[in-house]
Amino acid sequence: SIQLATRVGRVKPSPTMAVTARAAEMRAAGHDIIGLGAGEPDFDTPEHISAAGIEAIRNGQTRYTAVDGTPALKEAIQNKFRRDSQLEYAANQILVSSGAKQSLYNLMVALLNEGDEVVIPAPYWVSYPDMALLADATPVIIEAGPEQRFKITPEQLAGAITARTRLVVLNSPSNPTGTAYSKAELQALGEVLRQYPGVLITSDDIYEHILWTDAPFCNIAMACPDLVDRTVVVNGVSKAYAMTGWRIGYAAGPAAVIGAMKKIQSQSTSNPSSISQAASVAALNGDQGIIAPMVKAFRARHDYVVDRLNAMNGVSCISGDGTFYAFPDVSGAIEAIAEVNTDTELAEYLIGEANVALVPGTAFGLPGHARISFATSMENLEKAMDRLEKVFNR
Ligand code: PLP
Repeated sequence: SIQLATRVGRVKPSPTMAVTARAAEMRAAGHDIIGLGAGEPDFDTPEHISAAGIEAIRNGQTRYTAVDGTPALKEAIQNKFRRDSQLEYAANQILVSSGAKQSLYNLMVALLNEGDEVVIPAPYWVSYPDMALLADATPVIIEAGPEQRFKITPEQLAGAITARTRLVVLNSPSNPTGTAYSKAELQALGEVLRQYPGVLITSDDIYEHILWTDAPFCNIAMACPDLVDRTVVVNGVSKAYAMTGWRIGYAAGPAAVIGAMKKIQSQSTSNPSSISQAASVAALNGDQGIIAPMVKAFRARHDYVVDRLNAMNGVSCISGDGTFYAFPDVSGAIEAIAEVNTDTELAEYLIGEANVALVPGTAFGLPGHARISFATSMENLEKAMDRLEKVFNR
């Protein structure tokens, strides 16, 4: 038999696989399954952005670009940081990648050695721990439940940092919880991080614009200007501009780290698609007014879904600050349903009994919960909530 690298075995198969497989099986058997698992906006890419991509093809912008992105896109990113965050980055402090995901992967590979620790608050985006493992490092998980709005405290952070900690991952607004850290909360975390100058911070801001708090968006670099030179901010066009398939994300941070990330990218994938880069210039430089109607729709759906969930037996859901996810505590339902003992079993059960597919909390490091994506039509959500309610309230 063929022997594979040990790192392959280190990465866990996705806990969502059982649910996805079961949903596909049921669909194939003719059942009308409503999927609430999607991690992408249901909107189309705005017309002027797509047009810029088509124009790029027609103009012959179809060749390799610089590994770290075209000058036009890097300038658009610099302007974006200035406009939205009052952050100044030189061109050699920015790397454009094939998605925020690749920027994060480059960062882990460029930064981590065996034995190094990466502090990751749970619930977390599924890829952070596995990326750390692929980079030979060890994820250190801090758990934050709904009673603390799924946000870690400074005490928890201080307790998780050791001499081996190299990186702390922050994601706000958060996938899967939808909650966001306030400026004051980030400043309190910054106070702890200030005591550990050897620790790098990455701020995954991919949901920056999908936010409906009264206070404007804030990340750790904005909250603690003295930490900018050890923070790598990661962002992208996927979520804000409904561009998940275009695969453009970017990172901004200390030149030495960005340079190392670029080196990794240069020997793996080179530049991201030239066409997608041109479209992303249009997204970042164009009318930002296109974002608000999408956020408004997400918020209306959020309010609807959270209300409906809280009316179901054994389900309790806090209100989010943004994103297109709700993360209800379903431990009461798990207890109440005889055939079900875990959140993964509950998700499988709901496909069969309610014909609704959602992702178990275990996938995000917090069992007893479920992630519901409301990046789907209100009509679908109404139908899905009716079906879930019928099962939970029977
Ligand atoms: N970070 C978080 C928290 C996400 O939810 C996602 C996408 O699901 C990404 C990063 C990756 O986004 P991209 O499409 O830019 O790779």
